[in-house]
Amino acid sequence: MKKIILTGDRPTGRLHLGHYVGSLKMRTMLQDSGEFDEIYIMIADAQALTDNFDNPEKIRTNIVEVALDYLSVGIDPEKSDIFIQSQINALTELSFYYMNLVTMARLQRNPTVKSEIEMRGFANDIPVGFFTYPISQAADITAFKATAVPVGEDQEPMIEQAREIVRKFNNTYGEVLTEPEIILSDNKVCKRLPGTDGKAKMSKSLGNGIYLADDPETVKKKVMSMYTDPGHIRIEDPGKIEGNTVFTYLDAFSTKDDFDEFLPDYSCLDELKEHYKNGGLGDVKIKKFLNKVLERELEPIRKRRACYEKDIPGVYEILKKGTENAKKTADNTLKEVKEAMKINYFDDDALISSQALKYGG
Ligand code: ATP
Ligand code: MG
Repeated sequence: MKKIILTGDRPTGRLHLGHYVGSLKMRTMLQDSGEFDEIYIMIADAQALTDNFDNPEKIRTNIVEVALDYLSVGIDPEKSDIFIQSQINALTELSFYYMNLVTMARLQRNPTVKSEIEMRGFANDIPVGFFTYPISQAADITAFKATAVPVGEDQEPMIEQAREIVRKFNNTYGEVLTEPEIILSDNKVCKRLPGTDGKAKMSKSLGNGIYLADDPETVKKKVMSMYTDPGHIRIEDPGKIEGNTVFTYLDAFSTKDDFDEFLPDYSCLDELKEHYKNGGLGDVKIKKFLNKVLERELEPIRKRRACYEKDIPGVYEILKKGTENAKKTADNTLKEVKEAMKINYFDDDALISSQALKYGG
């Protein structure tokens, strides 16, 4: 069986460190491993419109921002097809047929949908399109027969929903679709990186992110005002590590080399944590260290972005080519799906002749 990746992001803003450690880094690693036969990376504009339908301009202008972020972290258009969701009709068609395979109760139980509805304050005015987006996400994944979906932990219920749809489809109509596996980062904090404000998830919608395209000054400002331990007032006070966002980010980003290069008084993160817990280590020192660690990671990304920013028409060309390739694959799957569902009337000679026979022809 072919090994295929499908993953993507909503063009609701530029991408941030949460996206980077939760999914982008893993994607580039998997891409460069050479183990995958096909890689599709989707800019989910149609999905973004489900809760931004009244602001198409926001979605339209953020497409190129997300594409620039992809290219700047090392997504290579020679190895991965980057495409735009709305330009592939097969995805909408598949969603329509999958809607028959899912109950309202099942959608209502989806914990990610539940928390996103709450976060957006929809109460009872949930747009139907938003409510059903897990179905459209299943269409995106299965259209490419994806075997692997590298995403953050918040996407787990979506992948489970997609797997259920695959099983229901294959049981009802025959084996056409492939069950995807989720690929999560093996670093616990990277599965769901908190915001700079300490809130559970760094998210575009919550405005608590450090963006890959932020300049060094902005990153420094955000780091210096990050949430730490509110009880740690004087340097000599003992401090808490649990829930301290600076340490969570150090867990996500710092390496042994960072200590050797930027903070040689400590041999590793555990030693730094121990000192903080015992008292005598100030927030400013750990924040300055984190800033250096982040800069080490962000500087090459920024540089690559600046190169691509000089050729925006070239970036659109990459998207166009990726979309053309993705369209071929999705069209093929749709054809198989329609055959299995027996809604391929004009290609079905046996149907035409049997119906003719009924009328003696
Ligand atoms: P929005 O607020 O518009 O939903 P978002 O910041 O949640 O935006 P998405 O485009 O919904 O971003 O998510 C894209 C991918 O990034 C998903 O795979 C998601 O799991 C992952 N991701 C997003 N935020 C984080 C985070 N804080 N930590 C780890 N992974 C994340
Ligand atoms: Mg989201």
